[in-house]
Amino acid sequence: MRPGCPKRMVFGPCGGVRDDERCEVAEHRCVFLDGPLPEWPGDARPEPPATTSVLLAAAAQGPVVLADLSVVPFDRGSVRRVVAELAPVADGLLAGEHAGRPDFPPALLAAEVRAAGGTPWTTLACRDRNRVVLEQELAGLAAVGVDGVLCVTGDARGPGVRAGASQVFDLDGTRLAALAADTGLTVAVPESPEAPPTELRPARVAGKQRAGAQLCVLNHGRSPARVAAFVAASRAAGATLPFVAGVAVYTDERSARVLQRFPGLHLDDVVVERVLAAPDPRAAGIAAAVAEARALLAVPGVVGVNLSGMGSAAGEDDGARVKAAVAHELRGTA
Ligand code: SF4
Repeated sequence: MRPGCPKRMVFGPCGGVRDDERCEVAEHRCVFLDGPLPEWPGDARPEPPATTSVLLAAAAQGPVVLADLSVVPFDRGSVRRVVAELAPVADGLLAGEHAGRPDFPPALLAAEVRAAGGTPWTTLACRDRNRVVLEQELAGLAAVGVDGVLCVTGDARGPGVRAGASQVFDLDGTRLAALAADTGLTVAVPESPEAPPTELRPARVAGKQRAGAQLCVLNHGRSPARVAAFVAASRAAGATLPFVAGVAVYTDERSARVLQRFPGLHLDDVVVERVLAAPDPRAAGIAAAVAEARALLAVPGVVGVNLSGMGSAAGEDDGARVKAAVAHELRGTA
């Protein structure tokens, strides 16, 4: 464990390092910025004989769409409505794990998504679970038959959010990815191309692949060109896995600002202001997301896009309609 890391990471840094190199959590410089990053020990795992993942199988044939599943917490009806909107146009539905928005246990939520007709991808974070509970959740996700699990260290809970609740971080995302691969699950990992130290992050992708990752989901970058440079650098560092690139989906002030404030993410600020100033911000936001997605899908190594963000300040149902509209445009079914 690197002394001074509030998330107790071994294979850091996390994706939340601020642009000025401050720690996401504490008022000091991120402790992983000096000196070499820890490397995942051991050789790469043998390739699984054939993927059981619907998303990965589809990605081998053509571009795929992974859509964020934004739902009202602890509300099965909301899950059913959002899945009904998105499942016909998305190859996978990615449930998040946000610090200030707890929801059903991941395995239960995945079962609800599956029951509603969706293909569940589940984000599993180390923030709120010790290693034993992470093992329980991985076993539960395998039993439910999730299509894949996105293994993340997790964003830290900010001051005032559930004050007094401990933040666990027994593991970090890389070690969780290894544990998930041992469970037999299809494993994805995140990376933040534009969070410091940008020059060291491509090697992290290669290390996460050696730990067991089969897919890398990229956080938003300022431009497709920067994402392309990151993917190329990851290839040079030894990563051979496919990438899914984040597409910012917003159609109003609130849905845009939430994404802009998230640590480790970068949006094209000029495009954001243009969308918000447009006579019809909804149509402009959908068009901007479609354009960004098409540019990202042209990047070698990028096999799909992650339609990410709340999409609309008018609620989860409307956000799902916005993301579905983007997906329909991409599929040519609008
Ligand atoms: S930014 Fe993340 S990795 Fe760096 S010290 Fe803070 S919590 Fe740890």
